[in-house]
Amino acid sequence: MSAPIIGSSVSPSGLTAVQANSTKPKHIIVIGAGAFGGWSALNLLRKGARVTLIDAIEAGNPLASSGGETRVIRHAYEQRIYVDLVVRALEMWKENDRRWGTRLFNQKGVLFMGQEREFIDAAMTHMEAAGVNIEILQGADIAQRYQQLNPENLKWAVYEPDAGYLTARLACIAVRDAFIEEGGEYRLARVAPGAISAGEMAGVLLEDGSRLQADQYVFACGPWLKELFPEVFADLIKVTRQELYFFKPPAEHSKAFNQDLPVWAEVGTPFFYGIPGNGGVFKIGDDTRGPEVDPTTQSRSPTQTGIDKARAFMEYRFPAMKNASLVDARVCQYSETKDYNFIIDRHPQAQNTWLAGGGSGHGFKHSPALGEMIADQVLGNRPSEEKFTLSRFS
Ligand SMILES: Cc1cc2nc3c(=O)[nH]c(=O)nc-3n(C[C@H](O)[C@H](O)[C@H](O)COP(=O)(O)OP(=O)(O)OC[C@H]3O[C@@H](n4cnc5c(N)ncnc54)[C@H](O)[C@@H]3O)c2cc1C
Repeated sequence: MSAPIIGSSVSPSGLTAVQANSTKPKHIIVIGAGAFGGWSALNLLRKGARVTLIDAIEAGNPLASSGGETRVIRHAYEQRIYVDLVVRALEMWKENDRRWGTRLFNQKGVLFMGQEREFIDAAMTHMEAAGVNIEILQGADIAQRYQQLNPENLKWAVYEPDAGYLTARLACIAVRDAFIEEGGEYRLARVAPGAISAGEMAGVLLEDGSRLQADQYVFACGPWLKELFPEVFADLIKVTRQELYFFKPPAEHSKAFNQDLPVWAEVGTPFFYGIPGNGGVFKIGDDTRGPEVDPTTQSRSPTQTGIDKARAFMEYRFPAMKNASLVDARVCQYSETKDYNFIIDRHPQAQNTWLAGGGSGHGFKHSPALGEMIADQVLGNRPSEEKFTLSRFS
């Protein structure tokens, strides 16, 4: 079933003897079939590795951070690296949609708006430099263009016609299916890291007591990384509770909200965002970090306080949504790093083990490009990305 570990030493270039000499495909075990793990596994497979992908529950399961119905994809970021990642990720979402005959990416446009110019000035500079198509709207233009929206206190908005939303859970399933179709081995099992000695992890342990071995391991376990590797993540990741609400637009305003309004976000405190239209409902989320939780045991029922806060914002900013019925709610969790940047790095004590996570509430959109980056790093074809290393925290 699995290849034995081949003893390997690390060369100055960081390439192991296995990578440098063997013509046999490397065997990589990826643990976690969420956005990070699924896309890492698929990219590794497409780059010629033999890959086993294992998930404890299922790809895009309801407890996972990737398990929701939809996720925003936008280029508006204050840091150039994320703009570039989105450019590449969007290419890959579209390319794979064509390949699979799916519609995971929905080009609904994204409207980012706010009161302070700081965020938008930085984001605009990067987006323009990266060739992203944007339109800048001032207060009066916003009101004229989007009559569903009360423009009070909004000083600026940037509209990205080429962005939109992704169907998250369905994307995880599509990636898993493609992975299997293209020759990957997929298994359902809870995995525990194996013992680490002499700078390597000696296999991973499955809940039935068996051990699997490979050349390298990629742990992409989202919010569970912290309990699997407390020695690494105890102080680096906070797992925070996040609630999402789904309201039904009144029938007479159905077109205005379901079809005409783009995906939107209002930068500030609080930071609300929404995805209108998917399944005929108006999704609204509060990006404010909730309390720290255990992703396995936290309650998945929304709080009345959260519902009231979201409704108050929605009715203020979108007055025609007044008294809209709440038809659904979801509770999920962010894996928040101290600086909101992801973590993609080797385990500090095991050079054959990679840790990928810390999505910090914005990882989904990037996942095809991150999977490509992770695959290239694991295969020794690309150096670490400084911003995502563990050493940045020391
Ligand atoms: C409410 C909410 C809204 C968000 N909105 C956006 C957005 O609009 N745009 C955006 O880009 N991002 C958004 N994000 C962030 C994004 O969804 C996450 O960054 C991303 O999904 C993280 O993926 P992941 O693969 O790291 O983790 P997960 O999706 O949690 O995947 C981890 C997987 O590992 C498996 N696993 C865990 N432990 C084990 C084990 N021991 N053995 C085997 N398998 C195991 C789990 O079952 C799970 O399938 C949002 C997140 C939330 C919670």
